[in-house]
Amino acid sequence: MKVQKLEHIGIAVSSLDEAIPYWENVLGLKCYNIEEVADQKVKTAFFKVGDIKIELLESTSEEGTIAKFIEKKGQGVHHLAFAVDNVEDALGDVESKGIKLIDKAPRLGAEGLSIAFLHPKSTFGVLTELCEDKNK
Ligand code: ZN
Repeated sequence: MKVQKLEHIGIAVSSLDEAIPYWENVLGLKCYNIEEVADQKVKTAFFKVGDIKIELLESTSEEGTIAKFIEKKGQGVHHLAFAVDNVEDALGDVESKGIKLIDKAPRLGAEGLSIAFLHPKSTFGVLTELCEDKNK
């Protein structure tokens, strides 16, 4: 497995409505997509910074992982997402190297990406998402 590029940075926010104006009015970036991912209990907002995307994540449920993350650590950087050729192959590869997985199999994420998370206990504290663009 080899990472192709940093695909996006996920940032946990309490409210998209409150956070988006900072990204648009202060940083001068344009929100180009807002999408709810019911499966993960999140609403996402996307920005592009050069080649890299920023994914703002707002929880749609108090039980959601983003709500729990903010409760524990506050708002801020939540995960890094690396693009790989094939998520299933990559999961098998990293697991064979002793990395703990959150997702044993890929699931559908925002923007039609096939995604899977590695456990931060195995990745030096950085929640790591592997993703593959199936639309390509
Ligand atoms: Zn992500």
